[in-house]
Amino acid sequence: MAAIEMRNIVKRYGDGFQAVDNVSLDIADGEFIILVGPSGCGKSTLLRMIVGLEDITSGDMIIGGTRVNKKAPRDRNLAMVFQNYALYPHLTVFENIAFPLRLKKTPDAEVTEQVNRAAELLQLTEHLDRRPAHLSGGQRQRVAMGRAIVRQADAFLFDEPLSNLDAKLRGQMRTEISRMQRRLGTTTVYVTHDQTEAMTLGDRIAVLRKGVLQQVGSARQLYEEP
Ligand code: ADP
Ligand code: ADP
Repeated sequence: MAAIEMRNIVKRYGDGFQAVDNVSLDIADGEFIILVGPSGCGKSTLLRMIVGLEDITSGDMIIGGTRVNKKAPRDRNLAMVFQNYALYPHLTVFENIAFPLRLKKTPDAEVTEQVNRAAELLQLTEHLDRRPAHLSGGQRQRVAMGRAIVRQADAFLFDEPLSNLDAKLRGQMRTEISRMQRRLGTTTVYVTHDQTEAMTLGDRIAVLRKGVLQQVGSARQLYEEP
């Protein structure tokens, strides 16, 4: 069974603009898929419809076998990582990562265990007592990923997570994101307009253009073969 199935998904905004045009795509359980395409092609709109932050005009969104068209984000059990990190400045790294667990009133011992495990995976163990203002951009990005990890979500959704970082850091973070995804085996949808990211991350690439899904395949299939 696919983790995420999109069936003839259409998005027309209030002004009549059709941002997503009849997209059908199956994302396998544990798969790392990249949505790539030029700015304005509808990537972010599609991702937001998966998470539930945007209504679907027509078509079906099926997550874990259940149609979720009308389900609120909190009922979809997905974890979105935004490009602006959305960290709480007054909380330590530990509490920033722990935040979703605190909301769920998870017992302290389990919070500590889960936060430590995520911190180890993301090489944040030495920074747990610091506040976001004292971290580098890459470290902040990792804290945001730590928060997604402790949600124990069915899928991770990344919306251009590295676009605020410099080129060197982007390279490092690409490596870390693939390592994290492989270790956890969590289904991941990753939006980018950057071809290098598309080619080096992920199992498959889905190419969007003007709201239409143009091609789906591995980097080799899409970029290397004539
Ligand atoms: P991408 O993520 O690929 O850059 P988006 O999904 O953000 O593209 O946007 C796709 C298209 O939909 C763009 O042309 C954008 O201007 C339009 N769009 C996005 N949000 C809205 C909105 N709230 N109302 C009207 N048009 C929108
Ligand atoms: P509250 O509204 O209680 O302050 P949040 O806004 O943090 O809590 O989250 C409300 C619900 O929305 C959460 O239960 C969660 O399932 C969902 N949610 C919040 N942030 C994300 C995210 N980054 N990715 C996916 N779902 C989220």
